[in-house]
Amino acid sequence: MSILSEITKTLDAAEKLNPELNSFLSIERESSLEKADYLDAIPPDRKLHGVAVAVKDNICTKGMRTSCGSRILHNYKAQYDATAIERLNAAGAIIIGKTNMDEFAMGSSNENSAFGSVKNPWDASRVPGGSSGGSAVAVASGVVRAALGSETGGSVRQPASLCGIVGLKPTYGRISRYGLVAFASSLDNIGVFGRTARDAADILGVIAGRDKRDATSADVPVPNYTETLNDDIEGKTIGVPRALFGEGIEDDVRDSVESSIENFRSLGCNIVDVELPHAKYGIAVYYIIATAEASSNLARYDGVRYGLRAEDTHKLREMYFKTREEGFGEEVKRRIMLGTYVLSSGYYDAYYSKAQKVRALVKKDYADAFEKCDVILTPTSPTVAFKIGERTSDPLAMYLSDIYTVSANLAGVPAISIPCGLSDNGLPIGTQLIGNFWSEATLLNFGNVYETSFPLNARPKIFAE
Ligand code: GLN
Repeated sequence: MSILSEITKTLDAAEKLNPELNSFLSIERESSLEKADYLDAIPPDRKLHGVAVAVKDNICTKGMRTSCGSRILHNYKAQYDATAIERLNAAGAIIIGKTNMDEFAMGSSNENSAFGSVKNPWDASRVPGGSSGGSAVAVASGVVRAALGSETGGSVRQPASLCGIVGLKPTYGRISRYGLVAFASSLDNIGVFGRTARDAADILGVIAGRDKRDATSADVPVPNYTETLNDDIEGKTIGVPRALFGEGIEDDVRDSVESSIENFRSLGCNIVDVELPHAKYGIAVYYIIATAEASSNLARYDGVRYGLRAEDTHKLREMYFKTREEGFGEEVKRRIMLGTYVLSSGYYDAYYSKAQKVRALVKKDYADAFEKCDVILTPTSPTVAFKIGERTSDPLAMYLSDIYTVSANLAGVPAISIPCGLSDNGLPIGTQLIGNFWSEATLLNFGNVYETSFPLNARPKIFAE
């Protein structure tokens, strides 16, 4: 089949499902067809020749709207491509659209989008997880094989888990953040969704690596992630922090994750106990550091340079206030206030600098644990996909969705979520593998071996044919 007809099918599927799922904020038919036409006419020698990719709406794509799920950027068109996008384009990928997300990537359910919530294709009355829910759903619903999301505290892995697909957050510095709209810069990463670990490996191989436009991107060689997907994992050691399998975790999730441990054992892995004694402070530390950095990063939306500017204002301060009042949603405002508070002179030592110290301990826990094992296994999310509206009035309950994911962001280590089973009511469950710095190849290898040995064999109700 020609790339043009493949891409036409993909665009048709995206357009057909979108009224129901709301996973795309824009679908780029014209530019996608043009590129497909071009690719059909040249030798098919690029790594992602004609591969359709969906991209979260906080990653800059030249000439396309990049709204971050926010009213304040509702009409913002990016002036340049993020490095990851440049590399995808050069490798022959086709960016078919921009996906819905929690406003500025703040959320765990996609209900914080200014453009309506995204629906989970397994059960449309439930959330897809967040904040990269649109990208997760674009993959889970069969429209694309891979998508880009972003991670600050779990926003790729948690929706991957709730939608039954693979989600990878790489090591901090593995993928350039140039062109990723900042939320909390010391935690932000671009992450990758794939229907399989192989899909994720193909994309990561193209976008990873040093970029001189992002000083925090690391000069560490990028291995060929696809080549090692089938390596034997027999004899590898998996560390399990049992103390984290306690309160708040649903029975179905616990059972499924326990059976994934047994499955890995049957593949010849050694299972050992490890401890992550400071992981229990992860959520508290994360919500201090992430909000502090967000309050600073989001100061740039003042109505002067980007997006929305409130009308009928006559004085500068009035214009700032009204623009931000009208442009930001509830959760973003809550976080700006919280972040400003923890950075204020009276509370800086009590909260912000204390949180930084505990962050160092969280990181050290991982270093200690990786003395004993190759990867660490935990659930990805304590629950399966919850009902839309169920947690919106209780921010703390919502924040607990990330209890298993935030510590990898605090430490900067990579982690992957892979599907490991279904709950009694037919909803997907993910198991999380956390690796040492720069061990993405190991995580993808574990993911690929697991999913080929124990495939999920189930599909969401809503799926593109
Ligand atoms: N759910 C977390 C939050 O609300 C993580 C978000 C993210 O990773 N972008 O901040």
